[in-house]
Amino acid sequence: MAKAVRTRIAPSPTGDPHVGTAYVALFNYALARQNGGQFVLRIEDTDRQRSNPESEAQIFDALRWLGLDWDEGPDVGGPCGPYRQSERSEIYTEHAEMLIESGHAYPCFCTRERLAELRAEQKAAKGRFGYDGRCRSIGKDEAARRRAAGEAHVIRLAMPSDGEIVVEDLLRGEVSFEAVQIDDQVLVKSDGYPTYHLANVVDDHLMGITHVIRAEEWISSLPKHVRLYEAFGWELPVFCHLPLLRNADKSKISKRKNPVSLNYYRRAGFLPEAVLNYLALMGFAMPDEREEFSLAEFVEAFDPAKISLGGPVFDLEKLVWLNGKHIRDLSPEDLLQRLREEQLSDEYLLKVLPLAHERIDTLADFVSYAEFFFVGDVDYPEAVRSKMVGKGLTPPQMAKIFRRLLEEGLDPILDWKIETVEEAIRDFADRHELSPKQLFMPVRIAVTGRTATPGLFDTMAVLGKELCRRRLRCAMDILRTMKA
Ligand code: GLU
Repeated sequence: MAKAVRTRIAPSPTGDPHVGTAYVALFNYALARQNGGQFVLRIEDTDRQRSNPESEAQIFDALRWLGLDWDEGPDVGGPCGPYRQSERSEIYTEHAEMLIESGHAYPCFCTRERLAELRAEQKAAKGRFGYDGRCRSIGKDEAARRRAAGEAHVIRLAMPSDGEIVVEDLLRGEVSFEAVQIDDQVLVKSDGYPTYHLANVVDDHLMGITHVIRAEEWISSLPKHVRLYEAFGWELPVFCHLPLLRNADKSKISKRKNPVSLNYYRRAGFLPEAVLNYLALMGFAMPDEREEFSLAEFVEAFDPAKISLGGPVFDLEKLVWLNGKHIRDLSPEDLLQRLREEQLSDEYLLKVLPLAHERIDTLADFVSYAEFFFVGDVDYPEAVRSKMVGKGLTPPQMAKIFRRLLEEGLDPILDWKIETVEEAIRDFADRHELSPKQLFMPVRIAVTGRTATPGLFDTMAVLGKELCRRRLRCAMDILRTMKA
């Protein structure tokens, strides 16, 4: 009997939940469901500095919103746990020792200074960058002695030094790499933490993953991973590298050019089924070429061998169009239900109402006063545009300030609330020597389209990070077209 299909999504919890994670999760989910297998969620948090529990929680939320439920994972458990790499340290240490023992890996004692010198030499010689394998020749006993004496070291994988490494990718067939181009990869860092490569391969094996479907950017890791499988004597899974989602200019999808956070799509009123439908279209065409379909229909028709390799361009307008089609398929009762779950939920209305309460005289006033809390993008009437530029600044300067405010101040906030937003904006103003007046009014207009609104930080807290960042980006586009 064929082995049960087991797939996984293995996000690193280091920021907002990314649309690329949903894209990769969708294909893994479909393959597992289609074959009656399991879909596993594993959290790859070996980068201790960048990993964040808030980000992890948001990934869970976003994937659940989309309906991509998993059978095993940190929050639901399962037979191969723990499913968070930070809780599996001993497993990696044990496996690294196995590799040292069998001669497939070795401790490397080269200091930071030596590596920097090596790099400088390679640069001067215009040669290839990479570790030169010096510590490979240290005898096992001597290496063991130096480790026991506490000498700082990393553990490296011994890669073959010549010949070709040929690996199989489901979509590309055989892909070959020249061995000399591939470094002796670090498997365990000097702090004892594993790198992505070791943890990823060990976990995929121990978790019984049969198909590794992931983004194309990992293809360069493939020879190292295959080498690890061979070194452990493990059977290879099927590898399938999905084409990356791209901006219109074909660069890798980025938040400068497209909303990439799943939170944005939810907040801006997209239906989860439309987002999934759109993501499926990015890599797959239905046999009858119809563009609108449900998750269940996709699961049934999906064939991983038919994933198209072209660089799919993420087109927000097309997603809006598709979302419209899904919206029109809903019965009025269902549509009402959806509105009540998101835009018109009691929870959200109760956040908006206190901000409008003092400022309305009739119930009808509420609708016009609070409009910007309910729409996606806002308009910037001619009359407010000039006020979107702080005194003494030019429109291009203001656009730049908005960009830096996003990058330095707002983007890094994971716990978005009045206090964190206020602190980020005030700090930014101080650092860049901007008066509150110069900064606050332009930001207010950018995020609401108006000059008179409830308190700026309260308003931004309720609007949420995603709408604020999207509107600041729209405002930047307008500023760039304004005369200085
Ligand atoms: N942690 C990696 C990521 O964030 C996983 C890559 C893989 O699927 O192997 O994308």
